[in-house]
Amino acid sequence: MTDYLIRGADVLGRGAADIAVRDGRIVEPELLDPDATEIVDAAGLVALPGLVDMHTHLREPGKEDAETVLTGSRSAAAGGFTCVHAMANTAPVADTAGVVEQVHRLGRSAGFTEVVPVGAVTIGLEGRQLAELGAMARSAARVRMFSDDGICVSDPLLMRRALEYVKTFDGIIAQHAQEPRLTEGAQMNESAVSAELGLPGWPAVAEESIIARDVLLAEHVGSRLHICHVSTAGSVDLIRWAKARGVAVTAEVTPHHLMLTDELVRTFDPVYKVNPPLRTDVDVTALRKALADGTIDVVGTDHAPHTAEHKCSEWTAAAMGMVGMESALSIVVAAMADYDFGFGDVARVMSTAPARITGASGHGSLEIGASANIVLVDPSAAHTIDPAAHATKGRNNPFAGVEVTAQVTDTFFYGHRVLAAGALTTPHPAGATWTDH
Ligand SMILES: [Zn+2]
Repeated sequence: MTDYLIRGADVLGRGAADIAVRDGRIVEPELLDPDATEIVDAAGLVALPGLVDMHTHLREPGKEDAETVLTGSRSAAAGGFTCVHAMANTAPVADTAGVVEQVHRLGRSAGFTEVVPVGAVTIGLEGRQLAELGAMARSAARVRMFSDDGICVSDPLLMRRALEYVKTFDGIIAQHAQEPRLTEGAQMNESAVSAELGLPGWPAVAEESIIARDVLLAEHVGSRLHICHVSTAGSVDLIRWAKARGVAVTAEVTPHHLMLTDELVRTFDPVYKVNPPLRTDVDVTALRKALADGTIDVVGTDHAPHTAEHKCSEWTAAAMGMVGMESALSIVVAAMADYDFGFGDVARVMSTAPARITGASGHGSLEIGASANIVLVDPSAAHTIDPAAHATKGRNNPFAGVEVTAQVTDTFFYGHRVLAAGALTTPHPAGATWTDH
């Protein structure tokens, strides 16, 4: 493998330094052989630990026309992600050791990012019976996070049992908080806009009532709970309250909920149809503040590719979801521009915190001895987001045509430069052996 000296990068926004990479690890620069080292001139670029996405839909197995583990892995690398957590709503559902091992293997053979499968909480995402959580945890995929994402685990007894089960191996349940009875047939946020457009609304209380219930359950059980894609100001209040009580709850926000509002539904462009729905200005402001003050721990993309057939139809028939790994960092920087939120904070919410929560041990650090999972960012590369140029199969990116400043330029994945000056290169040469475990 090539060794690298990344020269003069602004490390975590704290000042220029060199980063040396040898045999896939970050080492002291003196340990490099000058004759066998490639120099990367990173003057003017910011170096962060490789990004970690807690919430990605890679669609394989079963929906390969929308995305595959390979195309999703390439999209991740292009967006600066060295680790992604692949949600379980595939076909078949990732609810057995066999399916999570299959996804894990596909990730390894793709070789562009670490693919960590998320196991389903219930068999078939049906909300009736717990899936084989222990077997998935003990499998080669070493699953630690479980979620029925896309669907809420609405039965409180099942949720309690799931929290109890994962506690035995320090696992975590990631909840898609959506009370199903309160959202039957819902098409957008319940608001003045939904009333005006005559679309069935999706009230904030449907999200908030599940969060309130689940933080109390997590407290009662003494287990870890993660709230996926928080979208309302009221949810933020509840999470702040739960953290003050000492409940082991973490929370996530998507780039789109930090940036877009339900006013966009007036266009009836299905690219803006998403679950949970785009909310109001008041919600967006509350989410930004919560990300800045640490109430919300992480940004997760909820990258959700769909084929044109499923996405490009009239509003009520269109699938819900947006892609976003390749625009995530640029959008987070833009959304947080009015806050005291530097690149150190970007690293915290997009790398260090998600790696800590999910136990992705090879990620989230630029310390000497850490695995060389590194992203370089040009903080002043003004450009227009162009989904047609992205590596994902999904074209349903709501930020098409938006002008942003920061741009991911390089991604080092376990020491291999999978993205070089904005262009994807080759998979990691070590194939299936690139991690420690
Ligand atoms: Zn979800």
